[in-house]
Amino acid sequence: MATDPAVRPQDVVWDAIVVGTGMGGGTLGAALAAAGWRMLFVERGRSNLYPNDDCIRDGLPDDIPNVTRMPEREYVELLARGGRSTDLIEDISGLKPPTFTPFIGGGTGGSTALYGMALERLFAEDFRPRSAHPAVDGSNLPESWPIDYETLRPWYAAAERLYRVHGSADPLRPGDTDCQLLPSPPLTPTNAELFAHLQGKGLHPYQLHIGCEHLPDCQNCQGYLCSRDCKSDAGNRCLRPAIEQHGATLLTGCTVTRLDAEGTSVRRVVCRQGDTELVLRGRYVVLAAGALVTPVLLLNSHSADFPQGLANSSDQVGRNLMRHCIDMLMVQMNAKEPVHGQIKELAFNDFYHHDGQKLGTFQSFGPLPPIAYFLNQGTGWWLRLLRPLLVYFGEQLKAKGLVVTTIMEDLPYQKHRVLPSEKAFDGLRQRIRLNYALQPYELSRLATLRKAVEEVLKPYKLVQLRGASENRAIAHVCGTCRFGDDARTSVLDKDCRAHDVDNLYVVDASFFPSSGGINPSLTIAANALRVAQHLKDRGRSP
Ligand SMILES: Cc1cc2nc3c(=O)[nH]c(=O)nc-3n(C[C@H](O)[C@H](O)[C@H](O)COP(=O)(O)OP(=O)(O)OC[C@H]3O[C@@H](n4cnc5c(N)ncnc54)[C@H](O)[C@@H]3O)c2cc1C
Repeated sequence: MATDPAVRPQDVVWDAIVVGTGMGGGTLGAALAAAGWRMLFVERGRSNLYPNDDCIRDGLPDDIPNVTRMPEREYVELLARGGRSTDLIEDISGLKPPTFTPFIGGGTGGSTALYGMALERLFAEDFRPRSAHPAVDGSNLPESWPIDYETLRPWYAAAERLYRVHGSADPLRPGDTDCQLLPSPPLTPTNAELFAHLQGKGLHPYQLHIGCEHLPDCQNCQGYLCSRDCKSDAGNRCLRPAIEQHGATLLTGCTVTRLDAEGTSVRRVVCRQGDTELVLRGRYVVLAAGALVTPVLLLNSHSADFPQGLANSSDQVGRNLMRHCIDMLMVQMNAKEPVHGQIKELAFNDFYHHDGQKLGTFQSFGPLPPIAYFLNQGTGWWLRLLRPLLVYFGEQLKAKGLVVTTIMEDLPYQKHRVLPSEKAFDGLRQRIRLNYALQPYELSRLATLRKAVEEVLKPYKLVQLRGASENRAIAHVCGTCRFGDDARTSVLDKDCRAHDVDNLYVVDASFFPSSGGINPSLTIAANALRVAQHLKDRGRSP
């Protein structure tokens, strides 16, 4: 679908074509549209921008019995209607399962249509990552990012305003007086109990920074599309105004398959919409298809001039993949408050640096999916047999527990990468190969973090849910087209322009040279606003 049926997108030379409408693409594209640029957004998934779009909301689309036995085409359709990615990952790292569907976004708003809305800044020292990991062997960690925290600071503040971030100041960041947050509702009893417990242990909890309007009875929709506008995402905050107020055009159900370059410019963006091939032209092309797909698109766009893939003279495209080490833990609280106790409310950063090691952040996780959802994803006969009992006891346990999460920084390694599959597209799904396994350095820091968290949560009873070693936990994927000053060791320059291609930019999570120990979205948004300003300064004609 194109938003304006009178426009044939292939007949226009767009000021910029943005591929992907998630945190990077939606934010940058809206800023350029507001500046009067003629913008085309190309999105391979469906629209979920309007109430009458054909979507599955307020619950997981695949939370139905027998989902694993459903014909592939129906399953893909179901995911697409829930705003989920339909890509297929071939995991070549030797971990099980060998193929999986990544739990990330695949419609307008990208992963932000599903995300948990935690919108936190990186720390200033995250921009000089080697300083915290001086002795690590084998990692491709750069000394520093090509920009520092002070460069991004005004764009962080702008992104916080754009995404209407609520929360309270982190006591461990006294310098961030420009971080003007909207107030959060008072803590609910379970979170207040944990907050007081953490303070009692000498830690510095605060109210998590979150892009949520907290409408009455907000269920903190996480992992699925919300039917109201509680959630600030790239769809409602960026894409919708870009289309409605600034005349941007949106093409949905349109998968970009390759870019054709001549000399040092991209000339054509080749897409597939249903059975039709579309060839689009733009003065600038901005890739924002996510850190799994963007590098694969570049590698698939090889040519005589770019035999290793487009923008890949450094051989870094697709490498240095990071995904954070994310664990979950259920804390059995004394306060009884089954539903609202699940809301994402608090965080602390006392373990960001701990015992001489850089670890990461601690946050409330938010609601877990229903127990029936996990059972529906299993294939064993015994699961079907024990289902009623497992659902009953699982939900009882969940009702008493507050789920918390730790996000630990993982380092970039050359061998951790995405690659094109032999079959780029099998008629139904984009296919991507992935190689990633936790390294000894990550495993040892993870053990330290787990011990520190268990210690601080004593005497509460804990249920370990873990998750860090699962490659399926790929929601924070980043790093696969890193930016840097040296064209020999990075794909993009400091403005996120490809070193090798004059009119090509990348603004999704691919640009991260290191992952930090914090949720990535606010940094993606701030950087996208910064790159949009660079493009405005450069002018509509490259
Ligand atoms: C369940 C969940 C919870 C999360 N919670 C948080 C959180 O609380 N805080 C936080 O900071 N982060 C969170 N994240 C991560 C965050 O959402 C992502 O880091 C962020 O959205 C990535 O932005 P992006 O621009 O790189 O890609 P995305 O937002 O994923 O956007 C990529 C877009 O490209 C489109 N696309 C892909 N291939 C093509 C193609 N070939 N042609 C055209 N379009 C294409 C996709 O459909 C998608 O719309 C969460 C993610 C998930 C899945």
